[in-house]
Amino acid sequence: MNLEEKKKIAKQIYDGLGLNNYNLENERDDEINADFIWVSNMRDPGGIIIGDDGNYLLCQSSHDFYYWKDEYKKGIRSNNNQEFYKCHICGEDLMFMMPDAMTLYCKKCDKYFKNNYGDVSEETSYPYTDKNADY
Ligand SMILES: [Zn+2]
Repeated sequence: MNLEEKKKIAKQIYDGLGLNNYNLENERDDEINADFIWVSNMRDPGGIIIGDDGNYLLCQSSHDFYYWKDEYKKGIRSNNNQEFYKCHICGEDLMFMMPDAMTLYCKKCDKYFKNNYGDVSEETSYPYTDKNADY
């Protein structure tokens, strides 16, 4: 997979996060045969490691790139299960919730699920009730 195809994947993911008018930046990492792609000028340094095989790992900004690179080397992927982002109840595609994609939302069921890499885990409540979070 070439860089343009990888950027297409990244765009799908970021569009799914509700971003618009953003620019993608990338950096090649030959050690893991992957590109790290992120949104320019985003406050947090999160991004996506997308391998030449098209599999990818979403990197939360809670850890730095090297942490995620290690996870990637261990074989951790965000899309290693095609059912990953489907609702357990109705089978619809789930949406990523901003800002960190740690919560997934089913529009049809109006339910939220926790995003545990590789698995959509138990139902959760609306994630942003914290008064300190002004999203
Ligand atoms: Zn559903």
